[in-house]
Amino acid sequence: MSTSLIIIGGGIAGLAAGCYARMNGFDTEILEMHRLPGGLCTAWKRQGYTFDLCIHWLTGSGPGSSLYKVWEELGIVQGRTFLDLDCYTAVPLKSGDWFRIFTDPDRLREEMLRIAPGEGPFIDEFTRDLARMRRLYIPVDPGIRDLMRMLPALPLFRKYALPVSELATRIRDQDFRELFVNAFDWHDQSAIFPMMMMAMMAKGEAGYPQGGSLPVVRALESRFLSLGGSVRYGSCVEKILVENDRAVGVRLEGGTELRSGLVLSAADGHSTIFGWLDGRYAGDRVDYYYRSLRPFPPLVFVSLGVAGDYTREPGSFVLCPDPPELIAGKEVSRVIVRNHADDPSLAPPGKTVFSLMVEADWSYWRQFTYPSEEYAREKERAGKQAVEMLSKVFPDIASRVEVIDVATPLTFYRYTGNWQGSYQGWLWTRETANLKIPQVLRGLKNFAMAGHWTAPGGGLPGAAISARNAVKILCKMEKRPFRTTRL
Ligand SMILES: Cc1cc2nc3c(=O)[nH]c(=O)nc-3n(C[C@H](O)[C@H](O)[C@H](O)COP(=O)(O)OP(=O)(O)OC[C@H]3O[C@@H](n4cnc5c(N)ncnc54)[C@H](O)[C@@H]3O)c2cc1C
Repeated sequence: MSTSLIIIGGGIAGLAAGCYARMNGFDTEILEMHRLPGGLCTAWKRQGYTFDLCIHWLTGSGPGSSLYKVWEELGIVQGRTFLDLDCYTAVPLKSGDWFRIFTDPDRLREEMLRIAPGEGPFIDEFTRDLARMRRLYIPVDPGIRDLMRMLPALPLFRKYALPVSELATRIRDQDFRELFVNAFDWHDQSAIFPMMMMAMMAKGEAGYPQGGSLPVVRALESRFLSLGGSVRYGSCVEKILVENDRAVGVRLEGGTELRSGLVLSAADGHSTIFGWLDGRYAGDRVDYYYRSLRPFPPLVFVSLGVAGDYTREPGSFVLCPDPPELIAGKEVSRVIVRNHADDPSLAPPGKTVFSLMVEADWSYWRQFTYPSEEYAREKERAGKQAVEMLSKVFPDIASRVEVIDVATPLTFYRYTGNWQGSYQGWLWTRETANLKIPQVLRGLKNFAMAGHWTAPGGGLPGAAISARNAVKILCKMEKRPFRTTRL
């Protein structure tokens, strides 16, 4: 008889875990508190525009990547068109021109030398290492051969484990140093992060899926359903039931109890461990992670529907207010902007969607009540500030804006339950780069975890691979071989 499995959360990790669980014969039901699958990987419509929250790039989108086989197993790459951007980002220059961060190391070298001809030695070394990084291959199921293949890249991992701001201290020209930090830094993570992304983009292995996040999520949901799984939407878990140190099911808000042989949580890590299990199985190590590691901060995410054609402008760029701008109680010096002009399916003809990722402060936003007039005013103010910032680069944009939509840290929390409104789990830093977060809790049987809180650096690959690993763990518990199938 097949073992029953309840999965908490229908985000990418929950849906992926569901697919692998069905491939391995578990009788699987996903419980998702919302009416939609996808969690953070989502989009919504406003007045003819589609505002996409998530996918800037899908790592593993090209067949050369080992991750590609995972996406094939999950049925999300087949028949999909990916757009390979030739620029990682761009930074506006005072001259009105752009400093474009090409993913191709030779083009980037040329561009950097154009901006800072006196920084040849630094630029040569950086772009040479970037070219080397293109040889990097990160295996999903590493065997000895894979490990041998990875060896030449290991020194680069050590060399660039430092934060971007620290790497930039090697640049003498102050203006270029600032530009470099603005281009590559994101929450003070290791420099290896942008470098790896650029290397993968240059190889065609981190493309943007045309249509954005929702079609990808729908494909994953339909793969799960076609494998024979079921999803119960509108089901919010409030407790994991435990008997004799074994997970035996869950209790939903409203009191309904559902029993199962196994439980897998693919929802927020903090709620799972300290809420639904009352912290009883946290142990010192996990406790330390949640007290000491830095999560991705929450965001104010501003989406704009603009009546205008911006196809000639960079697909992604950063705004760097100088002096920093106070937005919702936080001094903001760097905002990531995505210009979606390259995906015409998101806007009516001749119009464009822009999205701005503004780092925010959880303690500031949590003081607001939702819904309330005060909160609505704060959101409106943040939206207007975003438009003003964008006007510095596109002076006439304010008059073209048709729709402003603002999601705050409270929105992220309300829709996905992520701890402190975080949008991607743990940051990738020197401390977390090689950290393996356990996917089981010591002392608790018949239970496993998946999702970005178990995979530092987060993102869709972290969610999917952790889901695959979690099902491997369950197979081991059940003493059965782990199997995968492809569409
Ligand atoms: C602005 C932005 C840009 C991003 N860009 C990229 C990108 O370009 N590439 C990339 O790889 N990643 C990107 N990410 C990150 C990526 O979206 C996440 O890391 C990933 O989607 C996490 O998936 P998950 O399944 O682990 O968690 P989540 O998406 O948080 O899913 C958890 C699910 O559990 C459900 N849940 C929570 N509590 C309960 C409960 N009590 N009962 C039932 N269900 C519950 C939630 O509703 C949710 O559906 C981006 C994220 C954001 C916000």
